[in-house]
Amino acid sequence: MAVLDGRTAVVTGGGQGIGLEIARVLAEHGAKVVIGDVDGDLAEKAAGTLGGPGAVGMGCDVRRKDQVEALLDAAADLGGAPVDIMVNNAGITRDATMRKMTEDDFDAVIEVNLKGVWLGTQAAAARMREAGRGSIINISSLSGKVGMAGQTNYSAAKAGVVGITKAAAKEVAFRGIRVNAVQPGLIRTAMTEAMPQKAWDQKMSEIPMGRPGEPREVATVVLFLASDWSSYMTGTVQEITGGRFM
Ligand code: NAP
Repeated sequence: MAVLDGRTAVVTGGGQGIGLEIARVLAEHGAKVVIGDVDGDLAEKAAGTLGGPGAVGMGCDVRRKDQVEALLDAAADLGGAPVDIMVNNAGITRDATMRKMTEDDFDAVIEVNLKGVWLGTQAAAARMREAGRGSIINISSLSGKVGMAGQTNYSAAKAGVVGITKAAAKEVAFRGIRVNAVQPGLIRTAMTEAMPQKAWDQKMSEIPMGRPGEPREVATVVLFLASDWSSYMTGTVQEITGGRFM
């Protein structure tokens, strides 16, 4: 029997990158998975590549409460019960120094990375209360721990994700719902491939393990937090960084 047999999971921003790998690993371990992405076609295609007991993909902009609710409705339809695992993964960057960053760049990053996580956590917790169990995993970033130059918007949002995680964990623990966060460092995805070579080299020089992480190395930690293997953990923040800024 697989560790997530009988469980239903939702992954936002799961059309590609870390989110898609999280969806794949959860499915490989027995979960039915609903992938949401702002690009609905991408989400559908991504779901079609998953193995496991069943997967669907659909458009979901995490800035829209109605769309987040619809995503969770899809999970209930697929699993026949409220969602068991919610992974708030969708994120964007709009990097610039404060001197050059526009107010629109600031607002855009806060809306997706911070408000999106809050909406997902709120909506999933409301449904998990009915079942008296559930695991919510929020994708923060090392940038939210140390603060990165050129990322005043992103660092603020990702530090805020830690705040949401800990406050929500305290509110819902008595209902059997756990809320944890992960902070990946430099992971090889479309988001980081867009980075200038100089910035990539600088980050690489800061990693004691001497290599970037792979999306699967984030996904396996999310699997641990999603499963009963972590049954006594809530409000925690797991760094997945190859030792960078330990
Ligand atoms: P990615 O490859 O860009 O994938 C993120 C997905 O989320 C994309 O398909 C993106 O669509 C989608 N998305 C954007 N805005 C959305 C919205 N409003 N609603 C729903 N989906 C939306 O990024 P990634 O590298 O896999 O990152 C995944 C998460 O890990 C993010 O929260 C990121 O901040 C975090 N993270 C990544 C790294 C890293 O090194 N890669 C490190 C630390 C933390 P578009 O492509 O159309 O924008």
